Amino acid sequence: MGLIVQKFGGSSVANAERVMNVAQIVTETYKAGNDVIVVVSAQGDTTDDLIAKGKEINPAGSKREMDMLMSAGEQISIALLAMAIEKLGFRVVSLLGWQAGFESSSVYGAARIKRINCDRLRTEIGQHRIVVVAGFQGLNKYDDITTFGRGGSDTSAVAIAAAMHADKCQIYTDVDGVYTADPRKISNAVKLDEITYDEMLELATLGAQVLNNRSVEMAKKYNVELEVLSSLERKPGTIVKEANNKMERMLISGVAKDTDVSRISVIGVADEPGIAFKIFSRLAAKHINVDIILQSVGRENTKDISFTVARGQGDEAVEIVKQFTSSVSGKDIVVDNNVAKVSIVGAGMESHPGVAAKMFEALYNARVNIQMIATSEIKISVLINQDDADRAVTAIHAAFFD
Ligand code: ASP
Ligand code: MG
Repeated sequence: MGLIVQKFGGSSVANAERVMNVAQIVTETYKAGNDVIVVVSAQGDTTDDLIAKGKEINPAGSKREMDMLMSAGEQISIALLAMAIEKLGFRVVSLLGWQAGFESSSVYGAARIKRINCDRLRTEIGQHRIVVVAGFQGLNKYDDITTFGRGGSDTSAVAIAAAMHADKCQIYTDVDGVYTADPRKISNAVKLDEITYDEMLELATLGAQVLNNRSVEMAKKYNVELEVLSSLERKPGTIVKEANNKMERMLISGVAKDTDVSRISVIGVADEPGIAFKIFSRLAAKHINVDIILQSVGRENTKDISFTVARGQGDEAVEIVKQFTSSVSGKDIVVDNNVAKVSIVGAGMESHPGVAAKMFEALYNARVNIQMIATSEIKISVLINQDDADRAVTAIHAAFFD
């Protein structure tokens, strides 16, 4: 018994039947003696459809009006869910982001949650109502509606759980938890009972699209225990929490593939101090996030520097590097978009030697050539040819989990 925050994604409320199903889950939780705050996303593809409608009328529409438009999707969901809960005979109230006290930064389309004024939430809970809150939206200092970026409802739910000191934050989705690999591609992928925030963050960044990245960061910061579970099957999901001693430390908790990568190589720059600084500070100034970096050993007074960026930032990155290299003659810039990053993540690898060797052996056996390697305490990533990516994931997963 306590306060439980439950979040339901777009597919969980996609139609009337699914909305009734969510109302069942919510009211069962309430009947068990808990206070419940529910956060919902827009139904199905509503957000995409709204964006398309806006672009049809004005492709250059302002971000303020886009937020006004996009936030409407969640307004529909909260009203429908509240009506479903009423139908089951429970006291309920639906609230838009601003009514629930969400104060955000001013940046339309990518606003950050500054604080939640919990007065209204407390009052409604105090009157024993189930509270249904629109995810993904807040109000900035100009009293204008903002949105938190795609997938932002997860963050809304975690923020409420943190601000209200909830006992649990359950994220309901259309998969039943976090897996060791994409279960649609790897038939023997295993569902994890538990995973640490850090592992989940790495996996989220690497394209395992179960939880929004910012929501995991926030959960870690405020120590909100998350559970990822399916709204369609009644069974336990995956718990995301701080590592503790009781937690069985998996050597590897997952293998992930990211194809949203471009590799850029700057060939034949001067082998002298300051080159890396000059290139990467220019990229940073334009907010281009660089991932893997590789610099060759210098020979004949020149060296090569390669790095990866998100595919969408590839062209801009090349332009910036060109501006820099045009001041020095004879430099070549090579861009490769046919690459993929395959990574293994696991809190246990910190204390176990041989994990990298095992991964490389699996790639060797599958005849996959490695272009670049990067490691952190809990992650090893390799950059490979995109055509090899699925084979690589299968081989690595088999090496660690079969
Ligand atoms: N409806 C919004 C989106 O599709 C927010 C969310 O789903 O979390 O991005
Ligand atoms: Mg959505």
